[in-house]
Amino acid sequence: MSTIRRAYRQLHDAYGPQGWWPAATRDGVADAWEIAVGAVLVQHTSWKNVLRAIASLEQADATSVAAIGAMERDRLAALIRSAGPPRVKAERLQALTAFLVEEFNGSIDSLLEGVEDRRVAQRRRTQLLGVRGVGPETADAILLYAGGAPLFVVDAYKRRVMRRHGWDDAGAKYDEVATFWRRRLPADAAVYAEAHALLVRVGVEHCRSPRPRCEGCPLQSLLPPGGPLLEGVAEKTE
Ligand code: SF4
Repeated sequence: MSTIRRAYRQLHDAYGPQGWWPAATRDGVADAWEIAVGAVLVQHTSWKNVLRAIASLEQADATSVAAIGAMERDRLAALIRSAGPPRVKAERLQALTAFLVEEFNGSIDSLLEGVEDRRVAQRRRTQLLGVRGVGPETADAILLYAGGAPLFVVDAYKRRVMRRHGWDDAGAKYDEVATFWRRRLPADAAVYAEAHALLVRVGVEHCRSPRPRCEGCPLQSLLPPGGPLLEGVAEKTE
């Protein structure tokens, strides 16, 4: 079994299914649009702050594509300020709503139709990357978690685990890192979704910055003989 598959198995054995998406305000289940909103809002902030922002939108009865798109920018910024910087996030949300209206008649379901097929997923990804404020991590999170697209989300947690274990080039370009993981895991969107969630969890609980907490970490047995590699490439996000 490859090291990456072992890592996945050990994380899964230790933590169990993560049941992502983490920013679901209604009965623990997020719909596709809520996932997209959360994927934009979580850029450079925590899920806790995202949940507060989405709760504010719900209280204002302003969660739909149409409502967010039509809202005055300052008002939207005020509602989502917990996930700041609010004006930047408001602008990005409205860029996404404008894109959906222009290209998909305002329907996220139309955007996601057929994305289980990798070629369709890649086309939609390219379109999403043309939206202001949507980078590869955000686009892949939307397509994977809202649409079941076979895409792999790369983030700083993943790069940090890779770097400390000496797995491939943790500082490589986004798409190269995504390909590294996809090629070593079963070709299954559900596995990609679970793997991302598990790696976020190990990053939050153990593989922290600036120092890892390797004692008791599910990936401790996969460390290099001398322990984690702490020097090297700078962390990159999108
Ligand atoms: S905390 Fe240590 S063992 Fe766990 S993933 Fe990070 S480097 Fe590996």
